[in-house]
Amino acid sequence: MKKIILKAGKEKSLLRRHPWVYSGAISRVEGHPSDGDTVSIYTNQKIFLAHAAFHSKAPIAARVWSWQQDERIDEAFFYRKLTHALEFRKELGLSQFSTGCRLVHGESDGLPGLVIDQYGRILVMQIGSVGAERWREVILDILKGLCNPDCIYERSDTDVRELEGLTKHTGVLWGELPHDLIIEENGLYFAVDVMTGQKTGFYLDQRDNRAKIGILAKDKDILNCFCYSGGFSVYAKRAGAKSVLSVDSSEEALKLAQRNFALNGLATDFQEWQCADVFQMLRKLRDQNRKFDLIILDPPKFAPTASFAAKAARGYKDINLLAFKLLRPGGIVATYSCSSGISSDLFQKIIAGAALDAGISAHIIAQQMAAPDHPILLSFPEGAYLKGLLLKVSD
Ligand code: SAH
Repeated sequence: MKKIILKAGKEKSLLRRHPWVYSGAISRVEGHPSDGDTVSIYTNQKIFLAHAAFHSKAPIAARVWSWQQDERIDEAFFYRKLTHALEFRKELGLSQFSTGCRLVHGESDGLPGLVIDQYGRILVMQIGSVGAERWREVILDILKGLCNPDCIYERSDTDVRELEGLTKHTGVLWGELPHDLIIEENGLYFAVDVMTGQKTGFYLDQRDNRAKIGILAKDKDILNCFCYSGGFSVYAKRAGAKSVLSVDSSEEALKLAQRNFALNGLATDFQEWQCADVFQMLRKLRDQNRKFDLIILDPPKFAPTASFAAKAARGYKDINLLAFKLLRPGGIVATYSCSSGISSDLFQKIIAGAALDAGISAHIIAQQMAAPDHPILLSFPEGAYLKGLLLKVSD
């Protein structure tokens, strides 16, 4: 039997069903498990805690597959887990609104390190742990059977793979990738670049928050910072925004965003696009005395872990303070953080600090999170990576 035995007192997080064991919590390893092997975890009192995937060198030494002692981690286990994840997405009824959907969301679906996104008849798989990597062929076969996709594409190129000692891997695993991949979301069309786009090609997590911007955008001058493929901008423009200025530092992202405007028959001109660093752009707009009615701030992850929180906090405060100053009285800010290392409490405090320094007061009109196909396991707060505040500034 391959086992790990925890140090006394180090079982607490597992008893709360947090699915990670850090290497420092381990007292002994028995049975010579290789990286990716399934091990059973015990307290130093020999009480069973969980079955998990083992890693001898990574900071996260075990990721839990199952809390049930009699459950075997085999092909049937992955079939059950994947079937369950797919049935839950069906239950959400998302297919009425979108042909893009996150089918598997890692720890939240009991499958640590595995992400599967669906774009129409295409699946994109992202593996971020040695445990999930071990079962890649099994997972692939099950996906083919359950989803009957035209193509399964791998985008295992996240930085977390390095921590797991895995090299990056991308490419077609099954079938053929269509030349042009377009999804429909709430009656809008978006081109998805699964080969080189960000994440697996599209920010599915912001779906509901984009729709909210659509509701608020009519007749407004809008600034969309960190626009990527223009999700928020397309919703705003369709809703009758007076103007939408979209900013991103990536030329490719802006090209994709402009294509998305064209796909939806939305007119735009060159003045509405800026390839620039948002930190500098916000200062330039301030110096030009530009004003907006609605500003969206959806930056990349400033704090991948809590150890980056202080530096990240300065970044969030800076852009939010500048945004508040660019707002007309009564304007709205939609501000987001996708940093796991920043809690929603801390995020709210940072934004409150920015408002104070900008000399404005504001109300929260919505607290936002990732769309429901990105569920958050109650015992895994790290899953609540995306937090958003929709703020109405006082007149
Ligand atoms: N709001 C988008 C997702 C944003 S992802 C959506 O709903 O689809 C973050 C984006 O920020 C990426 O497109 C990245 O290219 C861009 N980015 C990162 N750092 C930046 C910077 N300093 N200035 C401008 N854009 C930046």
